[in-house]
Amino acid sequence: MSIPAAARLAASPEQIALAIDIGGTTIKGAALTRSGEVCAEFTVPTREQQRGPLDGVRLVVTELQRRLGEHGREAHRVGLASPGLIDTPTGTVGYSANLGWRDLALTDIIAAEFGLPAVLLHDARAGAVAERSALAAAGESDASLAFVPIGTGIAAALVDGGRFVAGGAGGAGEFGHIVVVPGGEACPCGLAGCVEIYASAANIVRRYRERGGVASGADQVAARIPTDPRAAEVWSDAVDALARGLAALTAILDPARIVIGGGLGLAGDTLLIPLRARTRTLLPWRPVPPIGASATGARAGLVGAGVAAWGEEGPDAGFVAAAIRHLEAASRAHGEHDQRAS
Ligand SMILES: [Zn+2]
Repeated sequence: MSIPAAARLAASPEQIALAIDIGGTTIKGAALTRSGEVCAEFTVPTREQQRGPLDGVRLVVTELQRRLGEHGREAHRVGLASPGLIDTPTGTVGYSANLGWRDLALTDIIAAEFGLPAVLLHDARAGAVAERSALAAAGESDASLAFVPIGTGIAAALVDGGRFVAGGAGGAGEFGHIVVVPGGEACPCGLAGCVEIYASAANIVRRYRERGGVASGADQVAARIPTDPRAAEVWSDAVDALARGLAALTAILDPARIVIGGGLGLAGDTLLIPLRARTRTLLPWRPVPPIGASATGARAGLVGAGVAAWGEEGPDAGFVAAAIRHLEAASRAHGEHDQRAS
């Protein structure tokens, strides 16, 4: 994206980062200053007619730069959050079932096509970057944590001893693909009965529709639990699958706290009360860590990608709180619903 020469001459010396959160349903983008001010926002469906996820990312970068250019500004760096097996040092997506990517050198592509240095994070770990910042601001410890954003897919970001657990191939925390229902429903990963195929927001909606229900978001399914047995059944299956996954995760990692994020985290007590109770029955031999809702909501991955874009030196201390405040205000202005399967 070229910026007109006149605009470049007038450009503010303030640096701007693009944050891009690549989800299975939408690709969210925002242009952010170092203090967390949102200069521009742009979101597209991940797939639209013939356009796939990579062209969606290109479209978001192009459009954000164009909008910045209208005000004589331009971005200097990009932070990307993607689901799947992520190798941050090489900026490569090793595999993502929901995006259909294998060995995609994403940061090299952004650097070559847009001339922008880019950094790539696992989306759950990007969300946890924002969540840890919110915990620290509230005076809470973030040294031992399982952050579980639930949207189109499910993965966990694991923090132990104050450090992220990435694993040998960047694949730690993919607990969405633990099999909890042997012989259960087929999952795009190739297995059957995975946590994700019952408990992701997208799959809760899919399973409700398959039973004849009408809903476009998991929040709508949750709202019908008291009056529609199909909604109650689908929700109960989701809670059970999640609880089985969290019990396994707790047995292995023993996190001090579990934080449910993403769109489904906004379901609040409708999810958390039965989830805590079910998880307790699966871990009778030990206490269950506190299970709470995210403080950073459905935009944690986007804001965490923004933090990552600033690299080692990082953004200003108030970046996460300011960015979330700006993004929520903008979304209220647009009348968006956070709880849609996203
Ligand atoms: Zn699976």
